[in-house]
Amino acid sequence: MKDRTKFPRVLVVTQDRRPAMPCSPARARQLLASGQARILRRLPFVIALTNRVDVETQALRLKMDPGASETGLVLTAAKNDGEHVIWGANLRHRSNQIRRGLYKRRLCRNNRRRRKTRFRPQRCLRQRKGKLSPSLRSALDRTWTWVQRLRRWSPVTGVSVEVVRIDLQRMQDPDVQGCDYQRGPLVGVRLRDHLLHKHDRQCAYCSEKRRGRLEIDHISPVARGGTDRLNNLVIACEPCNRSKGAKSTTEIGHPHIQAGKSLRHATATNIMCVHLLRRLECLDLEVEVGNGAETHTNRGLQGYRKDHWIDAACVGRSGRKVWLELRMPVWHITSFRRHLRRVHLSDAYGFPRQNGRVSQVHGFRTGDVVVAVVRRGKHRGIHLGRIALRASGWFQIGSAAVPWKCCRVVQRNDGYGYALQNLPYHPKVDARNQSTRPSHQRKLMGLRGAERPQTHSEMALPVSDPAISGS
Ligand SMILES: [Zn+2]
Repeated sequence: MKDRTKFPRVLVVTQDRRPAMPCSPARARQLLASGQARILRRLPFVIALTNRVDVETQALRLKMDPGASETGLVLTAAKNDGEHVIWGANLRHRSNQIRRGLYKRRLCRNNRRRRKTRFRPQRCLRQRKGKLSPSLRSALDRTWTWVQRLRRWSPVTGVSVEVVRIDLQRMQDPDVQGCDYQRGPLVGVRLRDHLLHKHDRQCAYCSEKRRGRLEIDHISPVARGGTDRLNNLVIACEPCNRSKGAKSTTEIGHPHIQAGKSLRHATATNIMCVHLLRRLECLDLEVEVGNGAETHTNRGLQGYRKDHWIDAACVGRSGRKVWLELRMPVWHITSFRRHLRRVHLSDAYGFPRQNGRVSQVHGFRTGDVVVAVVRRGKHRGIHLGRIALRASGWFQIGSAAVPWKCCRVVQRNDGYGYALQNLPYHPKVDARNQSTRPSHQRKLMGLRGAERPQTHSEMALPVSDPAISGS
């Protein structure tokens, strides 16, 4: 039997933009060639029928594994022998960039206050209760965007979501129970006494008892985002503490002393799942809720590797029998910022930088996906990818600089970067079964031998397109 799941289905909408059943890439090529469909969107690939309004659809299920840094999304079709995965994506969020950006802004503002230049009054009411943190809100909103998009492009009638409730206290102490949850590890003990007892009144770094005053030291320095959590604190003598400064324990030659596992991701995932579920329940969809253990069991029993989209496929009861092709390329969607909303650009010292931003050059914006055919010069060849804008009119695609006259827009910036890959995002997860051969990669990108992009590009087209493959 012909294996139909090796390539993801192409999403289809009708002439009046209602979702139709996704079709195979071969069928999409036929429809496009015969003029019965036209390309609605290239990234991800969606076609619109040109002559059909009413089409028959089957029910599809959207399955999600939400996370604070990455969310897995798949579309499955139910058949007699179980659910078949027909489309998949890993959506990478901007949580860390947002966190870093806010941290940098805070440093600039604190610095400004201290210098007494461009005085800036303290904003006391910055923390508003009940609101999500900016990084989490971004992850949630971007997941929501994709729920809405996929509902627009495919006949989704049900949704499965993994809602994990990670027990943060049990993560630290597996034996915790009853009222210990309220008490915490420091009940009735002073922090300093607890640490002194734990380290036997010795410096954690030099093990000397009498080299000066014993102090509390942060394993991961506060200057690098370390927190005051108990498992990030040790006892150190004054000379060791001074010499450590803002270095990590690895840098000072004590790699065995490491801060305990951060609970940031677990907390973020906990909050996000609940908020996402709340929003999904307002939709006119059948909602299936799965838990983390169930997903893990389902994936293990079926022998699938760990990946976000595979986790999403294994969510809930409907994840017990899932058919998926491990080599199926899935969309790797990376969130990018759409605008720079900073009023003043600042230099390394927090002073305003004079030269302003350029938002548009010759009709192009940063993040537009273009195909550039460069005929001369160092970077001659075909380049495909997101551009970084330069006022000079020479845009950056990866490491190549291409003139604006050679560029043609494939898709306008919509805040995401796209790549259709069968490679896991984290190569360490499972690098064995993956093909990195250039020929295979070219095939995945729907490009022919000599016409492949010359640079490392962030995107690919699933169906050969006259503009790019020249066919
Ligand atoms: Zn010491």
